[in-house]
Amino acid sequence: MKINNIETTLEAIRTLGAAHLVHNSLNKEVAGTEATGNHSAEAIQILGHELKTPLSLIKIYLQMAQRLSNGNSDQVSGILEKANVQVDTISRMTDDFVQKFRCPQSGRSLTFHQFDLVDLIRELLLEADQLYPEFVIEFNGSESVVVKAERHRIKQVLNNLLSNAVKYSGGLKDISIYCIRSSEDVIVAVRDFGIGIEPSLCERIFQKAFRPDTLAVQNIEGSGLGLFIVKEIIDEHGGRVGVSSVVGEGSHFFFSLPVIY
Ligand code: ADP
Repeated sequence: MKINNIETTLEAIRTLGAAHLVHNSLNKEVAGTEATGNHSAEAIQILGHELKTPLSLIKIYLQMAQRLSNGNSDQVSGILEKANVQVDTISRMTDDFVQKFRCPQSGRSLTFHQFDLVDLIRELLLEADQLYPEFVIEFNGSESVVVKAERHRIKQVLNNLLSNAVKYSGGLKDISIYCIRSSEDVIVAVRDFGIGIEPSLCERIFQKAFRPDTLAVQNIEGSGLGLFIVKEIIDEHGGRVGVSSVVGEGSHFFFSLPVIY
């Protein structure tokens, strides 16, 4: 996000005031809510939604500070960049949490926009340089693929697949992302050379909260929600998800989306 002028900054500060008010009314709403399953789920939906504004504002302030410090101190710049990466992590975790407790009856309506999927992958790779500096992540594929989708949800899919490739890398630091288009759809694959998955488990890992009962997996932190969320998002977009994997050699996770042109 670019901060152009003082009006934008003032607007951001005004919104921060509004965010405080929302926060207060949210407290009341949560406090007044009975601890039934549906109400708790609803409160989490509200909380997830309301966290978005203050998180976006923190990002704006970090970027303003980054601009002010530019050229003056590499150390300050590095710290601000790290804080920025952490804000992105909290946003992602919030999205996952909200998705887990989504009320089935709330019926979210999707807002699709056209965007270049390859641009999005390049954005993800830049962020990955910050998040996983020890990994070598290469991109192969088309120059440009326009899709109609919810951009931030597709980014969440890519983030989940990439963070899994890192988590289950088994110490091998190479990861590849492919983006291959045909006349009707585009396939994106995230490939790692890590621990791999038993063939009998390849379908079950997309189920809600499923984690294999193996030592290799149990030693790695996780909730079993990431792939469930990936599948839900891609299903909502009319695409497909899948995996091909060999134990001890690595995995290809892929999804498809319809293309516009
Ligand atoms: P989590 O990683 O929190 O357990 P996920 O839903 O993202 O949840 O993944 C479910 C399971 O699928 C993981 O516990 C792991 O066993 C397996 N898995 C996911 N991605 C990979 C991968 N790239 N390599 C090996 N196993 C994977």
